[in-house]
Amino acid sequence: MESYTGRARAPRRAVGALCLLFHTAQLMGISAGSAAIAAGPASVDAGRIQDGAGEARNWLSTGRTYDEQRYSPLRGINADNASHLGLAWYADLYVERGQEATPLVVDGIMYVSTAWSLVKAYDARTGKILWSYDPNVPRNINVNGCCDVVNRGVAAWKGKIFVGAFDGRLIALDARSGRPLWTTWTVDRTKPYTITQAPRVVKGRVIIGNGGGEYGTRGYISAYNAEDGTFAWRFYTVPGDPSQPFENEAMARAAKTWSGEWWKLGGGGAVWDSMSYDPDLNLIYFGVGNGTEWDQRARSQNKGDNLFLSSIVAVDADTGAYAWHYQATPGEEWDYDAVQQLVLADLAIGDVPRKVLMQANKNGFFYVLDRKTGALVSATPIVPVNWAHGVDMKSGRPMENGGIRYSETGKSASIMPGPVGAHSWQPMAYNPTTGLVYIPTQQVTSEFDVLSNYKVSPLGWNIGVGMRGTNVKSTGFLLAWDPVRQREAWRVPYLGPWNGGTVTSAGNIVAEGDAAGNFAVYRADNGQKLWSMFVQSGVMAAPILYEVGGEEYIAVLSGWGGAFALSAGKEAGQSGNLRNVSRVLAFKLGASGTFTFPSVDPVRVTLDPPPEPADAASVARGEPLFGQYCSVCHGGGAVSGGLTQDLRASKFLTSDVYYDIVLGGLMKDEGMVSFKPVLTRADATAVRNYVIHRANEDTKHPGPPNVSTEPERR
Ligand code: CA
Repeated sequence: MESYTGRARAPRRAVGALCLLFHTAQLMGISAGSAAIAAGPASVDAGRIQDGAGEARNWLSTGRTYDEQRYSPLRGINADNASHLGLAWYADLYVERGQEATPLVVDGIMYVSTAWSLVKAYDARTGKILWSYDPNVPRNINVNGCCDVVNRGVAAWKGKIFVGAFDGRLIALDARSGRPLWTTWTVDRTKPYTITQAPRVVKGRVIIGNGGGEYGTRGYISAYNAEDGTFAWRFYTVPGDPSQPFENEAMARAAKTWSGEWWKLGGGGAVWDSMSYDPDLNLIYFGVGNGTEWDQRARSQNKGDNLFLSSIVAVDADTGAYAWHYQATPGEEWDYDAVQQLVLADLAIGDVPRKVLMQANKNGFFYVLDRKTGALVSATPIVPVNWAHGVDMKSGRPMENGGIRYSETGKSASIMPGPVGAHSWQPMAYNPTTGLVYIPTQQVTSEFDVLSNYKVSPLGWNIGVGMRGTNVKSTGFLLAWDPVRQREAWRVPYLGPWNGGTVTSAGNIVAEGDAAGNFAVYRADNGQKLWSMFVQSGVMAAPILYEVGGEEYIAVLSGWGGAFALSAGKEAGQSGNLRNVSRVLAFKLGASGTFTFPSVDPVRVTLDPPPEPADAASVARGEPLFGQYCSVCHGGGAVSGGLTQDLRASKFLTSDVYYDIVLGGLMKDEGMVSFKPVLTRADATAVRNYVIHRANEDTKHPGPPNVSTEPERR
């Protein structure tokens, strides 16, 4: 595939460039060391990223250091004084979709990416905005993303800030002004690729993958020169058409684990989140997502392991050449992406020091691998798991239970964990002092239903299986896990799943936001709650710690959204707060800031549906169509998780405007594209009848309300 380098469109800026440069210079004078002033803002290099202790004040890469431990050496905010924390400042992001980014702080300046891939720079001491850059991602790209239009962060390197835009561009910005310096298309724009991942910079190259494994793409990870965006190397995660030459030996080997014509739909294997780097071994590690379709019969005739799906892969940092892999879920068909954080640490296991890599996988197991060789050190479930009863230490393979492969049995299967995962993208953190890993953990069971007459669609996702919640109650909790003994140390329960990422520090604290809209600090050694504040919106993103002007801060993005909020339907409401208030929040000791109450109303859905449709056959026909084309954004059972229109309450259900929207693309600029390529008018009517039917069902049997549970403190 070709990639080219060129200038992007001029950015929309919040403030004039001159004033902005002046302010930046002023800020540097106040907060930065002399070396940083000489070099300008974001003067980050490998030495600084690796120097964890020497750079205690900063947060220079998305996982802080290349080992991605998310451990800060700062101890000014600690277990003895964290009860005195308060709100120092906040900044509204004005992009009301899910916020999943970890901020960076470099010498007093904070760099943040938001939903729709905007980038903003702030004075980290005051929250004053320095610049804002909008890549103007076309809103109709929304239809290519399963899991909200999120972005997980930026990278900084030698005066530049890098962002992967949702439409597949990699963009380098001038850290002084937010002005774009170069732009590279990293994807084939005719295919449903997206980017939500934070780039990392290794040896002067920006490393970036992409999403699309639910849609029909072939996964890969690429490297581009940070200086000018020229292409350096690429590693595919799935083999291409075997009648064509393979790109490398690893692809030839991987092709032996596939069957049928997988390449026609790409095979999946998206590299959409984690990445870490060991400078001594010169290896880059990344996680690989599930296959397209999820149904392995459709994907690979129920045969083979399907490498490198659901694997952790190590490649040479200079060339991208294959080094080793560990496949957590061979031949997977339950959406067990293996993209969760890859944390590098040196652990004493059986009194032997080991260089390990750790992952709390979506599939429920906590893996410890030897990061030189990829050999399995240990694997233990962190939640109840019913698809396997363990991992065979000799082969490294899971020991699957019977009846779990719906594509083989042709029967529905109730699987724990469900596709939301025991642990998803929400970052975990490792504290070398306590020896514990802090995992945003969830227990969610899902039912996989075999679909008859499923057809691959050119629009929307192609998972090839029906999915729904079960009567087993979902839970979510902060889990402190001992990775050496592979056992729980303590846990803090939350209302439901989809809580925030974590950070930990030398001050013996762990900080985490939750889905109900609280941000809390706990003792790292025993989980005692030290402080919390209601922040008005669910927090999914991971916090950071930094220091500026002699004071320490904890910062995090608030803003409910993401896959669970969009698709979980009624279950999404269980976690406590469906309102999206997108902000950067910064806390420090002794502060007493308060929020201006948001102008957006809490989510309250009032159902007053038209009468139950007389045509029951049409309702029945609409249900699977809704599942395939609508549920990924409008929620299972047509129950909104707060981000999108709750269709049960839509005023268009009884109007012909409904067809203008669904088939005519009337709201394409808001992200709702025309489904005319895949739905007939009769199909659209069937979907409408199904939604009206659902609204009537929920009016008769309302169950727990799907509304914000914000405390009364207006
Ligand atoms: Ca997936």
